Amino acid sequence: MHKNFKNIEKIVYGRGSFGSMERILSEKRNDNGRFFFFLVDQFFKGKELESRIPAESEDSVQFINVDPEEPTTDQVDRLRDEILHTKGIPAAVIGIGGGSVMDLAKAVSLMFTNPGSSKLYQGLNLIRFPGIYHLGVPTISGTGAEVSMTAVLTGPEKKLGLKCDWTVFNQVILDPELIASVPQDKWLYTGMDTYIHCIESENGILNNAFSHAYAEQSLKLCREIYLGEQAGHTADNDDKLMVASLMGGLSLTYSEVGVCHALSYGLSKIFGEKHCYANCLAFQHLQDYYPEGVAEFKRMLVKHQVSLPQGLSKKWKEEEITSMAHVAYNLTHMWNHAIGPHWKEKITIDSIKELYKRM
Ligand code: NAD
Ligand code: ZN
Repeated sequence: MHKNFKNIEKIVYGRGSFGSMERILSEKRNDNGRFFFFLVDQFFKGKELESRIPAESEDSVQFINVDPEEPTTDQVDRLRDEILHTKGIPAAVIGIGGGSVMDLAKAVSLMFTNPGSSKLYQGLNLIRFPGIYHLGVPTISGTGAEVSMTAVLTGPEKKLGLKCDWTVFNQVILDPELIASVPQDKWLYTGMDTYIHCIESENGILNNAFSHAYAEQSLKLCREIYLGEQAGHTADNDDKLMVASLMGGLSLTYSEVGVCHALSYGLSKIFGEKHCYANCLAFQHLQDYYPEGVAEFKRMLVKHQVSLPQGLSKKWKEEEITSMAHVAYNLTHMWNHAIGPHWKEKITIDSIKELYKRM
């Protein structure tokens, strides 16, 4: 019953802290094949940040296009195999980007030491050997991927993370300067992932003083960032959002997410909707489960002049809705947390379909 969770080994936080990467990595240079494998969000190709990546000639820097597809097991296998067959095992894997690139970096680090396809390891504690040293640098904040024990991958059968202690980054660099360029819409949707993490973590049977302490602080920051007098995508608020994202992630690691994330996984799996946006699509209709959270979320949308699409389900086929409901229903740990151990008495495929039909 008591979770024994692994945290990030080292964290550096602050404006300009990206500059400390070279010094941090220098200790690792001589490990394994003596080269670093950098995975970097394509957005930074040709930008100033590219010139600040401390890569030497022997290192490999790969730019990753994360749109529209979220990370897949095939992509992880391909990235690993290309490097393994040409250069061997790197000394470190470094992920610079949002949840997508950070999850890729976490998964690739594990797959350098675990044989076969990453699809074999989707689930809890299926990974057999520790991965190699991996360092994460978020450039968009909200998912909590920088701190979580999972690397979410879409596989041929399921969208499910490689989840274990070894997934967690050895080192994270939190530099709020890096999220300044995030466009307004993504700033909101991704930040709302943090907000929803906290609401879901707080409202369920696994919440306790430990998870609550993180959620409470993260929610306070979210309210300042999205509803306060100084609300908006400013430097001060970027400083706060990076911390809110981390703390939201820590809260749910000790507690759990709930109804919204279950539905969101269905939307991502069947329609390929991005995680944070899918959460927003679902959360607006969950007033029965999270009345205060949904009301406050709607105030945030109004404040930032974002309107989410309505009536989407009219265009969906019945089979698609049924498929999404099955994806959501199978996330039993989320329902258990949100509804309680007897959740199957209240939640059925049909009741989940009804929730999708609200969208
Ligand atoms: P993302 O990594 O998918 O990136 C979203 C968009 O923002 C992309 O277009 C990207 O190019 C752009 N971007 C990133 N940084 C930018 C910057 N500084 N300036 C301008 N544009 C920038 O975004 P995300 O929402 O952070 O991650 C979503 C992924 O995270 C999904 O794959 C989801 O499954 C995963 N996820 C993982 C966890 C976890 O615990 N591991 C939790 C939630 C979500
Ligand atoms: Zn989330």
